[in-house]
Amino acid sequence: MDSTPLRLETDILILGAGGAGLFAALHAHQANPALDITIAVKGLLGKCGCTRMVQGGYNVALAQGDSIERHFMDTIEGGKWLPDQDLAWTLVTGAIERIHELENELGCFFDRNPDGTIHQKAFAGQTFDRTVHKGDLTGIEIINRLAEQVWSRGIRRLEEHRALDFLLDVEGALAGVLLTDVRTGRYVFVQAKAVLLATGGGPTMYRFHTPSGDKSCDGLAMALRLGLPLRDMEMVQFHPTGLLAGMHTRMTGTVLEEGLRGAGGHLLDGGGVRFMANYDVQAERATRDVVSRAIFTEMRAGRTTPNGGVYLSMGHLGAANVLRQFKGMVERCADCGFDLAAGRVEVVPTAHYMMGGVEFAPDCTTERAGLFVAGEDSGGVHGANRLGGNGVANSTVFGGIAGETMAAWLVSHRAFCEPDPAALEAAIARAEVTFAPGPTTSASALEEMRETLYQAMWDDAGIVRNAQGLSRVEAVLDGLAARLAAFRLPAEARDRAFNLTWHDALNLDNLVSVSRAIVRAAQARENSCGAHHRADFPAPADVASATFTSVRSGGDATLTVTAKPVNFSRVRPGQSLLVHA
Ligand SMILES: Cc1cc2nc3c(=O)[nH]c(=O)nc-3n(C[C@H](O)[C@H](O)[C@H](O)COP(=O)(O)OP(=O)(O)OC[C@H]3O[C@@H](n4cnc5c(N)ncnc54)[C@H](O)[C@@H]3O)c2cc1C
Repeated sequence: MDSTPLRLETDILILGAGGAGLFAALHAHQANPALDITIAVKGLLGKCGCTRMVQGGYNVALAQGDSIERHFMDTIEGGKWLPDQDLAWTLVTGAIERIHELENELGCFFDRNPDGTIHQKAFAGQTFDRTVHKGDLTGIEIINRLAEQVWSRGIRRLEEHRALDFLLDVEGALAGVLLTDVRTGRYVFVQAKAVLLATGGGPTMYRFHTPSGDKSCDGLAMALRLGLPLRDMEMVQFHPTGLLAGMHTRMTGTVLEEGLRGAGGHLLDGGGVRFMANYDVQAERATRDVVSRAIFTEMRAGRTTPNGGVYLSMGHLGAANVLRQFKGMVERCADCGFDLAAGRVEVVPTAHYMMGGVEFAPDCTTERAGLFVAGEDSGGVHGANRLGGNGVANSTVFGGIAGETMAAWLVSHRAFCEPDPAALEAAIARAEVTFAPGPTTSASALEEMRETLYQAMWDDAGIVRNAQGLSRVEAVLDGLAARLAAFRLPAEARDRAFNLTWHDALNLDNLVSVSRAIVRAAQARENSCGAHHRADFPAPADVASATFTSVRSGGDATLTVTAKPVNFSRVRPGQSLLVHA
């Protein structure tokens, strides 16, 4: 097949169509309707990504008695003082504007109290009930309304187009992005004056994980290849309650939302004994890292359910009440043979969210001029632990900001850059490697490599880590990288149109690259903090001199990790912004 790429030009190219990407498109369009905006998305716009999967809801300080200062302090303390405070402040203040925009301008309906105010429910790790929601299917409401607005504005869509690599000009300025059209396999070069990275992270390299199937850390791997610094990569959040219904179903690993524990759900070991009070005074309402570690400890001690996890039990809250509050969850559990409303459901911690991502400023700029980032691809908002409900707030708040920043940036940056032909050739060669001549490999080898990755990351770079395990997983990742470089598509899998075997190989390649960054950062942090727990360094770091990790690729496979001091720009450890703290 001709590998010469099709060429397109656009003022703004947005990679990803979740909350971050769609808000960016709408805000850039609002700032300047004359801008040519293109959204490129691996799946179908409105149908893919994790924003659509948001169940629990959206954190915002709206109610009387709550405040942005309280939301901020919860975010900082939940993040173990590692968040960048200016980013966290932007999140909590911007969430108020964004939730009103979602309701009043985009037409989202959220659940209400009898007096007409917005209902806000409890989520773990928060000192106030501030999670806005639509039942337990909040993301569908948000993404449907966003998609309608994007469709109605005539913003160009490249659906089922996968971003492969950023391209620079000969002087190192950003020229655009190389993509492939999944439907045909044809390469497409989109030349753009500004690019937003909003592909949504997503730790799908672990045995149990929650994110959507289209997510394979592509954007983070592209950022690494471009030489951008990624911060907090060791901070992978495990949601404590992934459904555990056996390895034969892909429902295993999908999340049962935090509101269940917030509403009073109990966790029981395999013998039916409630155990969380042994680990934390907040019991089931402790933060995700604490609850996940407690469950993992119970599992390692062998106090497990038939499938090897623990039980979530809601029945004591009244079956009718549970059904009314958590209809979606009850139905999902019933599909797998569990009665959530009145019985017990088997659960296991499941990799859910990456606090780590590209270093960025509150206006969504990165160190590379013309490249912006928002949503789960960005790092620094949540520090060592994200509060449930702060994820979708993050993507929508910063997505909107990115749209405005890009529109403003384009006022003074109007020229296109030509890609360096050698860089374009190298990026295509990279994507083509599976089609290169050589002895072909069975497609099932990919499945086996994926299983190896899942197990190694779960065992040794997951909820509890130590130096030996991290070295072990590092060796596994090196082996996988070498096997992937040698992987050649079998003869029957060389048609490029919807070639899912090819895309599986590309996915795995990106997952292995980003897993390496996680492992390197985890090796460098010799203490325990939030989502990162080192069994060989269980003591927490001194908060007052807290540092975050910053991983950068040297161009080849080598990664360097630097410890950078956290800037306590608004409040120092031991202090609070709350007047009556
Ligand atoms: C099951 C589940 C439940 C959740 N519940 C909550 C909750 O209750 N509250 C909360 O705050 N957060 C929740 N989260 C987290 C929240 O969904 C995310 O933090 C947030 O939606 C991320 O938004 P995003 O725009 O960054 O990414 P996404 O919404 O994931 O969008 C990423 C987009 O990038 C596209 N993409 C990926 N790779 C490429 C590529 N190579 N080229 C082009 N496009 C690409 C994807 O197709 C997708 O369109 C939940 C997550 C999951 C998985």
